[in-house]
Amino acid sequence: MNKGKIAIIGAGVSGAMSARLLQQAGYSVQVFEKAAEPGGRASSWRDPERGLVLDSGAAFFTSFYARLLKLLPELGLESGVHRLSRQIDFVSPERIARFNATSLWSSAWSSMRLPTLGWGDKWRLAIYLAKINSQRRHLDWVSPESLRQLDDRSVADDACQQVGERAYHSFIRQTIEPFWFLPSEQVSRAMFIGMMSNSAGAGFYSFPEGIDQLSRALLSGVPSYFGAEVQTLQDNTGSTKLAWRDADGDHEEIFDAVICATTASVAAALCKDLPASRYCQGQREFLESQRYCANLHVAYLIDREEAHPVSMAVPAGPGKRDIVAVGLCGERYPALRAEGKEIISLYFSSEASQEYAGQPEATIYADAWARAVAFYPSLPAHATPLHLAMREEAIPEFGVGRYGEIVEFRKLQKPGLAFAGDYLNGACIEGALASAEQAVAFVRGSLLLV
Ligand SMILES: Cc1cc2nc3c(=O)[nH]c(=O)nc-3n(C[C@H](O)[C@H](O)[C@H](O)COP(=O)(O)OP(=O)(O)OC[C@H]3O[C@@H](n4cnc5c(N)ncnc54)[C@H](O)[C@@H]3O)c2cc1C
Repeated sequence: MNKGKIAIIGAGVSGAMSARLLQQAGYSVQVFEKAAEPGGRASSWRDPERGLVLDSGAAFFTSFYARLLKLLPELGLESGVHRLSRQIDFVSPERIARFNATSLWSSAWSSMRLPTLGWGDKWRLAIYLAKINSQRRHLDWVSPESLRQLDDRSVADDACQQVGERAYHSFIRQTIEPFWFLPSEQVSRAMFIGMMSNSAGAGFYSFPEGIDQLSRALLSGVPSYFGAEVQTLQDNTGSTKLAWRDADGDHEEIFDAVICATTASVAAALCKDLPASRYCQGQREFLESQRYCANLHVAYLIDREEAHPVSMAVPAGPGKRDIVAVGLCGERYPALRAEGKEIISLYFSSEASQEYAGQPEATIYADAWARAVAFYPSLPAHATPLHLAMREEAIPEFGVGRYGEIVEFRKLQKPGLAFAGDYLNGACIEGALASAEQAVAFVRGSLLLV
């Protein structure tokens, strides 16, 4: 029995997961993706001649990504993951402190040895983190319904009050800014507490064959059009007419339901011509108000003998941070090792990334490396440019109050049109997966009502 024909717009993690769940439930699904490949912000760049794969956006997942861990064996990806080492240098102008986040005990030991903290700071920090950890069982770290109770102040306000400014700048900021590229003043403590409640002793993993394997595997057997950019959605007496463009020209097709699995700004643009009975003012305001931070990721090759034995270097201490993380990921590439090379990735803050927008690549490569060497003097003076990815909409901002707004937004959804994407659950792969589950549940429920 054909239960209904559903279009999914976007083949990032949230779109690919939505498609898989709906197809498994017996719906007829078609995916439209404007790019030539799946993955979206979890996609990979390849140099086939050298056997190189570089994750240009998302690069790792953790042992507390419950949805992803459940999927790995189902998708046949379980044996293809690599546990990352977690030796991190905290770099401040005065000193470099080595932090070993490999296990719960090494993390606790490392934080007790942080040279910038006095014993009072360390004691307050330990109590603060223990309190957060004790909330693990009561929180779903990618559920707005669960997190909204904590969504009353920023990470900066909460941490400065609980552990003091020194511990905030020496430790707390490092748990947010290298991953979300935003100052901690702009991030709700709900996101931080949700994540940190799970992170004690967590393992970090990558896909050595490229993170885009995940979206590819999710889409296996699902009809998917690549290079197909959806232009508009129009109402067709309750169903939806979808107009899209590909290399062959313009096309239209009618669907019983649609899931917009894009960023919020794209979803807002696609839905703008729908009548209020399908897409109301409150939904419009919510989608148009979503802010994203930008990110510039610049990757280089260096000689292996010049590499430093850490997985990451991140800034520590007060003040603005332009480079938010220096990542060494060459450990994954046997071919590269044989060549005696190593990959270094530089990630810039939203503000610094925007300053590079529009500049020639050669200028960006040269300037970014000079800044990296000034920041982390262990880097060699010269590096060979490898790949550069600039994203204007890299990570959705989860500012204070956003979780409550998401809960209200979901209540406004109308039959036959749902939204998925990391901006609805959490700025990560697990958040994108969780958003797909909720979008699919809504669409299935609304089709049953028709
Ligand atoms: C630099 C960087 C590093 C990150 N690191 C990590 C990490 O280490 N771990 C982690 O868990 N998360 C990380 N993230 C976050 C993670 O990548 C995202 O949360 C997740 O990939 C978002 O998936 P999504 O499906 O919501 O959106 P997207 O991946 O943005 O998917 C949307 C898709 O829609 C397509 N699309 C847009 N418009 C149209 C249209 N009109 N028609 C058809 N298709 C369209 C896009 O091309 C895209 O493929 C990182 C993100 C960035 C940018």
